[in-house]
Amino acid sequence: MDAADRARKNILEFRNVREDIIGETAVESYYDFLTKKLEIKNLPIIVCNTLEKRTSFVETYKDKFFLVFDNYIIELFHQLNKYMLQDDIAENVESFFYKIASEECYIRLRYEPAIYFAGQYLNSLEKTLFEANLKDMLDPVPNYLFVQQAFLVAHELSHFWTRVSFRSQKKYINSKKNALFNIYEYAKKNHSEVSDSLLAGIRTENIFEECLCDSVGLVQAIDIGTKLKNITVADCSIACTVALMNLCILSTMSLLVEKASNFSYEEILNKYNLRILQLKSYTSRYLREYFSINDKKEYEDTIEDITHEWFNKIVNPILKLGLKNVNKFNSDLRSIPKDELIEIKSVLKQIYQS
Ligand SMILES: [Zn+2]
Repeated sequence: MDAADRARKNILEFRNVREDIIGETAVESYYDFLTKKLEIKNLPIIVCNTLEKRTSFVETYKDKFFLVFDNYIIELFHQLNKYMLQDDIAENVESFFYKIASEECYIRLRYEPAIYFAGQYLNSLEKTLFEANLKDMLDPVPNYLFVQQAFLVAHELSHFWTRVSFRSQKKYINSKKNALFNIYEYAKKNHSEVSDSLLAGIRTENIFEECLCDSVGLVQAIDIGTKLKNITVADCSIACTVALMNLCILSTMSLLVEKASNFSYEEILNKYNLRILQLKSYTSRYLREYFSINDKKEYEDTIEDITHEWFNKIVNPILKLGLKNVNKFNSDLRSIPKDELIEIKSVLKQIYQS
């Protein structure tokens, strides 16, 4: 067993593993290219698929680092892309909500609500023709997922890059600071109703680094998408902004379950609003400078429509369902007998695999 196998085993021991239908092929097609470009050495990637949907760095005992990339995020992106970009029906968002709520309770060992939400999920499936299987993995827009995965991998690598040579990257972080304050100043003059939220976002921990990593992610994802898959620059750019919106939804679900009745949408909004605005404005500038005015215009026109759809079709229904169910996220204290629990967990895991 080599170091990567050992690291994989150690990491997965503490996670709830799902079958990975996405696999490593896409990541392998650009990972070496990407690490070389970002001048990162000795950072092997471990691809997994777990209910925790967490991508992170892991350091093993010999100062060896690994990037752990969770493909379950990409699987969920596929569903969210569909809701946003296709004329999908509202019940699908409802199924999504119940399934993720159940999983988020499960990983926090709150089995009672996990069972409740799994039941709601199965009920909601009956209302709709929801086919979450391999056939369904066809992209609504060809290759959006490919670019989104590259965006996330590059974003994570960029965190690593910032941390290992923080001093030389400090000037990039500072330039993000200036960019965010510019966005805030602009909003204060033109849309004063959102400026408080933006200022709160600027005070969020690590926001400058996040924005820097989003921008690096965009630049690299455009490079990879155009070179390896012949995707247009505008489509690559749209895919990246949509990826950030998808992440916002996954964070909202996680925070909803974590905080239950103490959930505050503002906390999420402050952070993601600013990241999304920053990425949009950076993308416009980048396309104008390095590509063409037409690419910039195509990106801007499409992303405005998508943002609108995103609020209507996903954000609002999920927040509504969240508020309706807020008292159900915490376990009651009935302890489930051990035998019964083993059976329940096995049934739930089968449901989560779908
Ligand atoms: Zn990040």
